[in-house]
Amino acid sequence: MKYKAILMDRDGTVIKEKPGTYLCDPKGVKLYKNTLNAFKLFKQMGYKLFIVSNQSGIGRGYFSEDKVKAVNAQMLKLLKPAAEIDGIYYCPHAPNENCLCRKPKPYMGLEIIKQHNIDKDKSFMIGDKKSDMDFAANVGMRGIMVLTANGKKQQKKYAKELKNTKICLDIYGAAKYIKELNK
Ligand SMILES: [Mg+2]
Ligand SMILES: [Zn+2]
Repeated sequence: MKYKAILMDRDGTVIKEKPGTYLCDPKGVKLYKNTLNAFKLFKQMGYKLFIVSNQSGIGRGYFSEDKVKAVNAQMLKLLKPAAEIDGIYYCPHAPNENCLCRKPKPYMGLEIIKQHNIDKDKSFMIGDKKSDMDFAANVGMRGIMVLTANGKKQQKKYAKELKNTKICLDIYGAAKYIKELNK
């Protein structure tokens, strides 16, 4: 049997991001006020949960991979009252390294599908950038864009490209939309 999954961008979608900055301190990890409600709803609906994140700060030499792991660990701790996460995937490379895994390339999504036996037709990708939506399309999943962090600017900048994309205020809005679809 196959599982259904929600893939989520980390910065600006699950945890707060100041656009243009790189989070590398676990003390700076803050959930959006509705993140826990969203995760509760995802679990109620029976989704497996994954984070897919570009962490180019590693490849750019801004911080070590250990910092990313520390931030991820803190995020898991904050999310725990609502849900356990089934996997965190991240690309550590800088854009100019031309790796296989940086979103919008589908590699991380395809790995999740293979490793966790996921039905992509029943799954979603949620993120605050157009590149997250391109990633969803490249993986072959439905994408939902949120307007937190980079979302509003991206929505303006890519209005044409995003005209058929479902857009929600935040991750909880996305969760409620998915619940509607499941009715
Ligand atoms: Mg983001
Ligand atoms: Zn990569």
